[in-house]
Amino acid sequence: MHVNRLIAGPRNVFICDECVKMCQGILDGERRQASEKQRSAQAAGAKMYSPRAIFKHLDEYVVGQDAAKRTLSVAVYNHYKRIENKGRLADVEVSKSNVLLIGPTGCGKTLLAQTLARLLDVPFCIADATALTEAGYVGEDVETILWRLIQAADNDISRAQHGIVYIDEIDKIARKSGANPSITRDVSGEGVQQALLKIIEGNVVFVPPDGGRKHPQGEMLKIDTTDILFICGGAFERLDEVIAERIGFRRRMGLPGVHDNDGPQKPASKDDLLHYVTPDDLMHYGLIPELVGRLPVTVSLDPLDAKALMDVLTQPKNAITKQYQRLLSLDGVELIFTEDGLRAATDEALKLETGARGLRAIIERVLLDVMYEVPSRRDIRRVVVDATAIRGQSSPKLYDYTGRLLGMDQLDKAA
Ligand code: ADP
Repeated sequence: MHVNRLIAGPRNVFICDECVKMCQGILDGERRQASEKQRSAQAAGAKMYSPRAIFKHLDEYVVGQDAAKRTLSVAVYNHYKRIENKGRLADVEVSKSNVLLIGPTGCGKTLLAQTLARLLDVPFCIADATALTEAGYVGEDVETILWRLIQAADNDISRAQHGIVYIDEIDKIARKSGANPSITRDVSGEGVQQALLKIIEGNVVFVPPDGGRKHPQGEMLKIDTTDILFICGGAFERLDEVIAERIGFRRRMGLPGVHDNDGPQKPASKDDLLHYVTPDDLMHYGLIPELVGRLPVTVSLDPLDAKALMDVLTQPKNAITKQYQRLLSLDGVELIFTEDGLRAATDEALKLETGARGLRAIIERVLLDVMYEVPSRRDIRRVVVDATAIRGQSSPKLYDYTGRLLGMDQLDKAA
């Protein structure tokens, strides 16, 4: 056989171009296999992170919510262990432990899911259940969620198949008539739940390549959702009443407290009631039984009180005050939040009733002028944010390097 090229090696040996190509093919194949293996080990995550290690990591970023952190740590560990040991678990089908987080707005549900995905280095996306519709209606199809996850995985479908999806406001697609669908059939909520079920329970789903538009162009993307971890979250307002009703508690008119009537469980408060939620309560609330069945791990989160909000401002590794302090330090400016300033911010946030969500907006509003001025001013060395600044009664106080107070008019003049 004739070859195009012979390459000489040491001691009179030769290799032809055909053989080089063949060997390259073998090496490429091996490399691909190795990286697949590495990727699935990485996606498994559990090998590297025990529940305790996951908890510790969550603790660095999320204030409080210990029950949710523990539950999630175990659920996530088991999830990736199941994926990693699929072959060995063939005799017992270990089902997936998707998670339902119940808690008021701004208490850290999304943050928990996000922080987990970052730790495990798996693709992550957030979807809003209220934007979803049944197939064939105006709005987003559930396939859009998977399309977003594929985008988050840089179009690597095998990576997306090990990702985490957070579905927010799952309570808003509850059947209005609760557990009794015959009273008023609420098609839309139930239809969306059915559509979601299709992806949550683990199926091969075809996703339009252009993100779920109604008239897909090109070949459909095929994704298996069996190993995707779904974390759903919702405020589930008035779910406490469903629970109270079930366990026989009667709330006195106008009083938040609940009183035991000989039952074994003794919730101490309205918020505490949510810790006693059962699958039945969720069905009464209006989730369809099939969906409840696919969310076997349920945990409730506590609303953040003043102390927790204060911690949110200052404690997490990436706490908002630390972020701004770091940013301004790059301009050589020291940013100080006084104790009463921080307290004023938590007071405002409590009034907004949006949990920690309002904190960022409050701090950002106060610091906007400062962030605008500082880069073009050499004289500012220190910025102090106190309670009057937080309440909008004055601007943050600016000082030069001698400690001299720079008045607000100077801030204006420099603009
Ligand atoms: P939700 O419970 O509505 O999903 P998020 O997790 O989106 O709330 O919280 C909104 C923002 O508030 C987060 O980005 C984070 O900055 C802050 N936050 C909320 N809860 C906590 C918490 N427990 N610990 C630290 N930060 C929090």
